[in-house]
Amino acid sequence: MLRLSRFSFGVGDRFAHQATAQLKAFQQVLSEGVQIIPVWNKSNREHTFIGSQPASVRTAADLAIKQAGWTLPWHTDADHIRLETVDRFLDSSDFFTIDVADSIGQQPSQEAISRFLKNHPELFGNLHIAGIEESIFLSGDALAQIVTKYLVAAQEAGRIYRYIANKLGEGNFIAEVSMDETDFPQTPQELLVILAALADERIALQTIAPKFTGRFNKGVDYVGDLDRFAKEFQDDLCVLAHAVKRYGLPDNLKLSVHSGSDKYSIYPIIRQAVAKAQAGLHIKTAGTTWLEELIGLSESGDEGTRLVRDIYATALEQIGSLTEPYASVIDIRMSELPDLNTVEKWDGHRWANTLRHIPTHPQYNSNVRQLLHVSFKLAAKKGTRYTDLLKEHSEIIGRNVYENLYERHMRPLFLG
Ligand SMILES: [Zn+2]
Repeated sequence: MLRLSRFSFGVGDRFAHQATAQLKAFQQVLSEGVQIIPVWNKSNREHTFIGSQPASVRTAADLAIKQAGWTLPWHTDADHIRLETVDRFLDSSDFFTIDVADSIGQQPSQEAISRFLKNHPELFGNLHIAGIEESIFLSGDALAQIVTKYLVAAQEAGRIYRYIANKLGEGNFIAEVSMDETDFPQTPQELLVILAALADERIALQTIAPKFTGRFNKGVDYVGDLDRFAKEFQDDLCVLAHAVKRYGLPDNLKLSVHSGSDKYSIYPIIRQAVAKAQAGLHIKTAGTTWLEELIGLSESGDEGTRLVRDIYATALEQIGSLTEPYASVIDIRMSELPDLNTVEKWDGHRWANTLRHIPTHPQYNSNVRQLLHVSFKLAAKKGTRYTDLLKEHSEIIGRNVYENLYERHMRPLFLG
């Protein structure tokens, strides 16, 4: 069986130019004694916006792997696929994030609910899960409510999983199920029921992405109650370990945190909880590598700075349509976005400082950062004007890509 290692890290690379710089961060961590397996992820939505094909992700990663002499495993993730979007990923992916968030809340048949409840008497009443101090109590009503909410999603995950298994062969791919793109977080109790239902579907589940409490906006820090997150995360780890034993799920099953990148305030919490539970972790970051491209271009000179300003100007004009698909994962305060007259005077350093995610820097502006983060299709429209500059300034961009991944993400998450 193709097994996902204990620690894995999903990176995005929207324009497929930064795999080498990204890999350098993995190599650095490895040299410090921690093995993290790279996974390149790109969703159908990103491919559609840019006009790229899934095969390009694998090609770019493959080249970087060969050039760097990386001999450990690596994967390409068909990120957030569904039955209607999975096909074009089949040839080039070995990791599938099966997204069933849209099926949450759909009404299962009464027969399916009854069958589940009959097959799972162990979920009813007082449940003792190793590591969770207070026992979990699920009344008949509470259990039936959870089953009603999530059973169709689990069945849908089974359908998609079997479809992929039919095409690629069972054991030849890594399966993740994601339920994060929804309005309400899943409690540890709900996660337990979901795992039982996914095991019933005979999914060789290696990683699961629940929605955690708090806000995981793209490219900026976590917003929420840190103590509550810590408790929930620790309990989720215990629930996973319990479900592996109880339901025969793969023993490397781990949590996948669809972080949206840059969740500085919860990285230490995650690191400590994972170490304490001796658990694994898959952390998925958003395509913020593209912001490092903008930062590097800003620092590269006048031409790069002008391009960044052009993209920002168009982003301001088209802010409605650009932000609409991401409404649930960004929070932009319009009044904090500088107008064109203001940014006309900005030099490259000012742009870099505005965009680089160093919250304590006086020039950092999370609103500009978030707006540009979702504006990558404007760069795609620039065509070779954009990609030629990426090539010309690959050194300074690569340095930013590396530093961002290594210093601001991997170190606090894996090294402390
Ligand atoms: Zn996600």
